[in-house]
Amino acid sequence: MTTSTSPETGALPAQEAPIDAADGHGKLFRDARNRLNKAIQYFPISPDVEEQLKYPKSSLAVSVVIRMDNGSRRAFKGFRVRYDDSRGPTKGGIRYHQSVNLDEVMALAFWMTFKCAVVGVPYGGAKGGICVDTKELSKTELERLSRTYIEQIADMIGPEVDIPAPDMYTNEMVMGWMADQYNRIKRGKYPGVITGKPLALGGSLGRTDATGRGGVNVLRRLEEHLQIIPEKTTVAVQGFGNVGYHCARLLHDAGYKIVAISNSEGGIYDPSGINPYPMKEWEQTHKEVLAGGPTLGGKHQVISNEDLLKLPVDVLVPAALENQITINNAHEIQARIILELANGPTTTGADVILEQKGITVIPDILANAGGVTVSYFEWTQNQTGYYWEVEEVNDRLQKIMEKAAVNVWQTMKEHKCDMRTAAYIEALKKLSEAIEAHGTRYYFNLP
Ligand code: GLU
Repeated sequence: MTTSTSPETGALPAQEAPIDAADGHGKLFRDARNRLNKAIQYFPISPDVEEQLKYPKSSLAVSVVIRMDNGSRRAFKGFRVRYDDSRGPTKGGIRYHQSVNLDEVMALAFWMTFKCAVVGVPYGGAKGGICVDTKELSKTELERLSRTYIEQIADMIGPEVDIPAPDMYTNEMVMGWMADQYNRIKRGKYPGVITGKPLALGGSLGRTDATGRGGVNVLRRLEEHLQIIPEKTTVAVQGFGNVGYHCARLLHDAGYKIVAISNSEGGIYDPSGINPYPMKEWEQTHKEVLAGGPTLGGKHQVISNEDLLKLPVDVLVPAALENQITINNAHEIQARIILELANGPTTTGADVILEQKGITVIPDILANAGGVTVSYFEWTQNQTGYYWEVEEVNDRLQKIMEKAAVNVWQTMKEHKCDMRTAAYIEALKKLSEAIEAHGTRYYFNLP
């Protein structure tokens, strides 16, 4: 097979993760790092910075052994990876999913590093996870699992070192158990060790819908550039959990027409529109099955998650798992704009195809940074002991997200690159400054 680079962007043709295959790292992490390599082509950084960002700072793999309700013991694989802390304590969620593995957690920690830098929150990146299907556990088993995991990683985390938060299939109650377990181990009250906690335990107002809200802030700020008129814009949202639901709801409030949604049980499509509010109520009372739910047209088509991605809509919002848009289906995407609220929903191979098709991808490290931004606000409130009104949280979030969106847009124009590369360039600027503030090669070589 011959390979040539695109004259426009220097991008590799559509194939997945072609580099560094021999370094022992998994595909997802290699794919993640490819984005960095592409950004470096546009924005050369010093070899020292490149070296610093090459591997995770530290990775921990643990066995989380708990007693099940029936008296038996069961072991679950758990991970915590701190990628880079040049800009501050490391920060990132904890994911519970049956597909969690070290490669995925490394990639997610890498993305967190760049995400925090794009929006300028003073953190490095980390991530954690347990390989578990939470639907198979009782609530008491879930609590034991969460507390035991914290015992296993307690030496690695702390309010000034590494600060976990929720991610897929973990919620504020899980964060509450985890923070409580950390407090028991350390014999004190350290609310800043974990964010995304229940309000009563030091959580922040506005944290629950922050990721969806932040994504909507970005899209709305770029409406003019993207030639979007909300009332004439159709949207399909993949994932109807904490992120997808709030995004759909806020876009609906802003006048956008939500025509398709899906969750892990499947999806529905109604060109007449879907009101996310009653649909959420339906989902909660019908074992998560969306089919049969109230749509504005009265009837809808039942579709799969895969079908949803290919619908003729203006904006596609992947808000579920990674690796959804790949070289196998990117050709069939009809949306004009993709707002990535999931982490890593598009592979590097698919990026090339989407770019050739003229689709604007608002990348994950910008679009979904609202969650970690309000986590930062929560941590700030915990560290100072002074709690904010929700309006203050939402206003500050909007300012940060809009500023980052404009910066990335301008960088994209300046470097004539795609928006993802521009977001990495923005992040690299901040990471380089922090790393080089300790001295450069040039400084140390001066006589
Ligand atoms: N899990 C979320 C993310 O991927 C939030 C992380 C955080 O709040 O630290 O961005």
